[in-house]
Amino acid sequence: MKKVALHWQILAGLVIGILFGYFFPEKIRWIEWMGNVFLRGLKMIIVPLLLTSIMSGIINIGNPASLGKIGMKTMSYYLASSLAAIITGLLVVNIIQPGTGADLGFNKVVEGMEEAVGTNFSDTLINVVPENIFRAFSNTDMLSVIFFAFLAGIFTTRLPENYSRVISIGVNAGFELIMKITQFVIRFTPLGVMAIIAKVVSDNMSEPGALAGVVQRLGLYMLAVILALGIHALITLPVALRVIGGINPLKHFKAMSTPLVTAFSTSSSSATLPLTLDAIETKAGVSNKVSSFVLPLGATVNMDGTALYECIAAMFIAQAYGIHLSLPEQILVVFTALLASIGAAGIPMAGLVMITVVLSAVGLPLEGVGLIIAVDRILDMFRTSVNVWSDTCGTSIIAVSEGEKLKTSI
Ligand code: ASP
Repeated sequence: MKKVALHWQILAGLVIGILFGYFFPEKIRWIEWMGNVFLRGLKMIIVPLLLTSIMSGIINIGNPASLGKIGMKTMSYYLASSLAAIITGLLVVNIIQPGTGADLGFNKVVEGMEEAVGTNFSDTLINVVPENIFRAFSNTDMLSVIFFAFLAGIFTTRLPENYSRVISIGVNAGFELIMKITQFVIRFTPLGVMAIIAKVVSDNMSEPGALAGVVQRLGLYMLAVILALGIHALITLPVALRVIGGINPLKHFKAMSTPLVTAFSTSSSSATLPLTLDAIETKAGVSNKVSSFVLPLGATVNMDGTALYECIAAMFIAQAYGIHLSLPEQILVVFTALLASIGAAGIPMAGLVMITVVLSAVGLPLEGVGLIIAVDRILDMFRTSVNVWSDTCGTSIIAVSEGEKLKTSI
């Protein structure tokens, strides 16, 4: 029998999951465990993957000059793409004005809100240096693990030849091993995606009338977010791919289908990272040297979808409260949205918590979060996909600029 390609299997999983969650919400226990096992499998590999992929990326790049060059390109891409996303969001929210005249009947509180307000950006920066590296590993503190991996990679290249060779072989071997395990976990994606989506749908079904009521009230807001995400993902980034990278956006999209569907269903860029790395290397043909440097960093730092969402959500709350934000205040929203997206972890609903940072920066009422909480889980799926999509676009563009010939090139 001919084997059905993985992306079709995943798509089938998605559709079956939606149908199952819709028609049998009370039977969700039957399949929920599959989603949990799949997510645990992905989470299991994140820390060793981050450590080995970043270290091997740096060791393989080798000399500090080319490391600095790739580093500069990476940072420039992250900044430019996130800013482009936020500005798209700002334009859309000003045109559609979803919050103007909205009903303020809300009282929900978000878990973790207090801590988010307490953690300002400088604390986030300080916390990047872990007090205890093993605690950082066990808590999956992505930024701290990345920081340590960077140091370990850079100083490996400065060791005497006989030592650095041993570490280099060990780290590269470790990375290959983790990628093999990743490919094994990937085979279960269709089942995992099916179960996770079924759970999301059934959760939304269990609150009577929730979906319908919410969609009515917050429909315009959701529309604004999804429209702006769509413009960024389907116009801005593909144009950048084609014009700057000479890459065929459709081919690139097909090559990235597995991580994209996984990002959509798990709402976690970090959990998706193993699949993103696999797809960018095997399907797009980006070298390990570039991908293992740009992608793991991007999964935590570069979040176009989240940045755009932060901006629209803050503006929506301002509109709903009838607070007019002047141009300088809107510019402040743009920059805090950027910082919030950098600070947000690649886990579900991290962006919702970070909204409080934007709100307090411009003096908007924090309770406004209660207004958008009901639809956050759904919007999270879309913004996470855009986060991952932008990471893959950036990685390909940077690979091409380093002289690589990709399978997705025109
Ligand atoms: N869930 C998003 C991600 O993992 C972050 C967010 O909540 O915006 O990329």
